[in-house]
Amino acid sequence: MAYVDVHAHLDFENFNQDRDQLIKKLKESNIITLTNTLNPKNYQDTCRMFHSQSHIHVCPGLYPQDAEKITDQEFNDYISYLREHADDFVAIGEVGLDRYNTEDPKLWELQEQRFKALIELGIELDKPLIMHTRKAEERVIEILEHYVQETGFKKFDLHCFSGKKKLIPRIKALGIYCSIPLIVLNTQSFQILVEELPMRQLLVETDSPFLNPSKERNSPLNIPQIYAKIAEIKGLDVKEVEHMVYRNFQKFTL
Ligand SMILES: [Zn+2]
Repeated sequence: MAYVDVHAHLDFENFNQDRDQLIKKLKESNIITLTNTLNPKNYQDTCRMFHSQSHIHVCPGLYPQDAEKITDQEFNDYISYLREHADDFVAIGEVGLDRYNTEDPKLWELQEQRFKALIELGIELDKPLIMHTRKAEERVIEILEHYVQETGFKKFDLHCFSGKKKLIPRIKALGIYCSIPLIVLNTQSFQILVEELPMRQLLVETDSPFLNPSKERNSPLNIPQIYAKIAEIKGLDVKEVEHMVYRNFQKFTL
């Protein structure tokens, strides 16, 4: 049994001063971290950075705004590379749609085209996907409804889901996962998400170095606080929550 953080960015420069110590502390604290990346170069660099760390898994990703920037050739090369090196990663992330930072519907098209190709890669390789959905939550859910219906594949995690409350029943019906961030400590919408979803659909994340309610640098070392909050909301023993989340994680990445 271990703690898990399914969404962090441990390659960010906020960790340059003490990354080695952090890696060591995470190991001592029995915390497994999925460090998500944003584009092909970021994936390669991060793989080199965490080479040979068994408790830190580097995930290949394509951030929505990065999806707008790379060429078709670069994108296709990335897909081929991942197909050939599928043994190197346990999950794909982060990927998704973002209509907050992009307002041009033509670019939404491009984001969506690449997002769907990555979902199809995940289904083909049987790898879970960790998803960014900012201001495009409903569209992402529509897309996932299509894939779940067509293929039965459900290894999708909505990272830091901030969509409308009325979308929660659709997430529940899909049987996919939501990873709960540390800001659940002080943000009611995430507390509601925990209340509404069954334990079997919950994962946890820090999005380190971001999203610390104290505004300090976030780190996966804070992950036990999320388990404690979920236990409080669900009226469960914290040990029980640790086991359930770990089981979900195993099922997610199996
Ligand atoms: Zn992120």
